[in-house]
Amino acid sequence: MERVFNFSAGPSMLPLEVLEQAQKEFVCYGSSGMSVMEMSHRSKVFEGILEKAQADLRDLMHIPDNYKILFLQGGGSTQFAMIPLNLMNKNNKADYVVTGQWAKKAAEEAARYGKVNIVASSADTTFDRIPELDESKFDKHADYFYITLNNTIYGTRWTKLPNVGDVPLVGDMSSSILSEEIDITKFGLLFAGAQKNLGPAGVTVVIIREDLLGNAMDFTPTMLKYDIHAKNNSLYNTPPTYGIYFMGRVFEWVKAQGGVAALQKRNEEKAALLYDFLDSSAFFRGTVQKKDRSLMNVPFVLPTEELNAKFIKEAGEKGFVNLKGHRTVGGMRASIYNAMPREGVEALVAFMKQFEAENK
Ligand code: PMP
Repeated sequence: MERVFNFSAGPSMLPLEVLEQAQKEFVCYGSSGMSVMEMSHRSKVFEGILEKAQADLRDLMHIPDNYKILFLQGGGSTQFAMIPLNLMNKNNKADYVVTGQWAKKAAEEAARYGKVNIVASSADTTFDRIPELDESKFDKHADYFYITLNNTIYGTRWTKLPNVGDVPLVGDMSSSILSEEIDITKFGLLFAGAQKNLGPAGVTVVIIREDLLGNAMDFTPTMLKYDIHAKNNSLYNTPPTYGIYFMGRVFEWVKAQGGVAALQKRNEEKAALLYDFLDSSAFFRGTVQKKDRSLMNVPFVLPTEELNAKFIKEAGEKGFVNLKGHRTVGGMRASIYNAMPREGVEALVAFMKQFEAENK
């Protein structure tokens, strides 16, 4: 059976080279005589896997020594609670910018533990943009300032970070980590679920500045304390060992591609293929304001619901799958993460052109 071009928003395509390498190593890893899945998380071999993965991510993202890299569980959604539980510790309040469902969920969860100040929102236009910020609305005494760097559902991204002064900036990078360069020193904490650009679902990467550790609210469950995981180098309990191994192989793949800068360039070219076509078409239409367009998730619509449905069906028959947009936006969404080859995007655009010619 042939592999399809999978435009899923996540879990999504992984690099074929890494899948094949994992297949080779599936039953016996190196000279260990066992699968990574069968290995004690306290074994020397696994510790090596974990430490290599951390070191490679540190290299790839230029993460300074005063940041800890944690491999946790519970997905992005658990971070929505861990962040306030651990960081809302001085003034019990935080600033949030609501740029989509995930930011909204994060703000709602934080509101269970303290005061949430919604600095700005683009809900009024179905999150088709990153909202304008009025700095006078920033709370200088907020314990942190929260943003979602790439909005998976709506296809927007922050291209310029807010000027938050000394307030720690917290970023959800679930759907754009390793897709573009980022200055980690601008952040107090950055997190990402693995299931888009990093590997299989099950691992959550948290990068946290050391001075933010150790002040969790008293009632915080032990497993939800960043400092516990930092002190134990992500081995407080059994971590998602296979996911960490796989992610490590993806980090090596990213390095072999030339690192994050090289992938960013490739991603910009891939995204431009789609956006240029959308801009030139009088049939297909992108749903996002141009200045805020995502490199990873590209939502678009046709003039009618019937045409949307027809497009999705015919695309699926041609091997372009998972193009249905999120129910709150409708239409289509092409997620083109790091592992989506340029040929996949070129083939999709060619199919869109053909569909336009046949149906307009
Ligand atoms: N943040 C973003 C930007 C996401 O795209 C998602 C899920 N797709 C989440 C958070 C939630 O992640 P999880 O499903 O791992 O809890």
